[in-house]
Amino acid sequence: MPRSDQPLRLLILGGTADANRLAAAIAAEPRIDAVLSFAGRTEAPKLPPILSRIGGFGGVAGLVDYLRAERIDRVVDATHPFAAQMSRNAVEACAAARVPLLALERAPWQAQRGDCWTEVDDLPAAAAALGAAPRRVFLGIGRQNLDLFAKAPQHSYLVRLVDPPRGRLPLQQVEIVIARGPFDRASDRALLEAHRVDIVVAKNAGGDAAVAKIEAARDLGLPVVMVRRPAIPPRRTVSSVAEVMDWLAHDSTPTERGV
Ligand code: NAP
Repeated sequence: MPRSDQPLRLLILGGTADANRLAAAIAAEPRIDAVLSFAGRTEAPKLPPILSRIGGFGGVAGLVDYLRAERIDRVVDATHPFAAQMSRNAVEACAAARVPLLALERAPWQAQRGDCWTEVDDLPAAAAALGAAPRRVFLGIGRQNLDLFAKAPQHSYLVRLVDPPRGRLPLQQVEIVIARGPFDRASDRALLEAHRVDIVVAKNAGGDAAVAKIEAARDLGLPVVMVRRPAIPPRRTVSSVAEVMDWLAHDSTPTERGV
């Protein structure tokens, strides 16, 4: 720890199952004073066993101010791999405020035997990859960006969301299922079968919280349009909570501190 007499002040950028797991591990560590930050997209996020805050910081400048005002010693970016703006802001703000940053990020899923993936760079490309003929599409991409699929109205969509939508979704032929992960393979298989889904669109999140739909598609021989991850500037990255705890237990190096 940087200051042996005081607890380490840690900011966790969250919104994922991994961030919740990290918060649970940190709750048992009295020498770490941590706050878990949510964007505020989910109406009732699972409350962590540590202090939390909700809402954006106000870009890079706002995050720099927050790091300084709260005297944050370390930042762990445990956001979703597709939360690219937050992750880019964290790289820039931590460099500016000289606060060591670690990313907790699972390796992307790799296609396995039995998988039939079309990999694309972004969601507009995913909508285009569904083709001209009408399909029954499972959209496991969250609430944002559904409008991109309005440009492909020939398809009917099954959309899974954490919260019930406040208004109409921007899709013509749509069914909604409300559920919060982690999901399991058998239930996702049953869901895809019940709705006679014939193609799945997914973001390559990696990890186990959202993989069930990919396994279910494999079981059913369904094609998957898999969106590759957005680019994030280079940063130190680990893939497990244990590695984060190890990093927190040791002093940051001069390089990490940017001196
Ligand atoms: P984003 O596009 O990278 O971020 C947009 C803005 O939202 C950020 O610039 C920041 O606002 C605010 N923000 C994002 N994450 C935040 C956090 N943990 N704490 C405080 N502010 C945050 O993010 P997104 O893709 O909309 O994702 C929002 C949240 O949902 C993240 O916490 C992410 O982990 C979670 N999530 C995202 C996905 C996905 O597919 N994108 C999937 C599952 C969960 P300011 O610039 O004002 O600071």
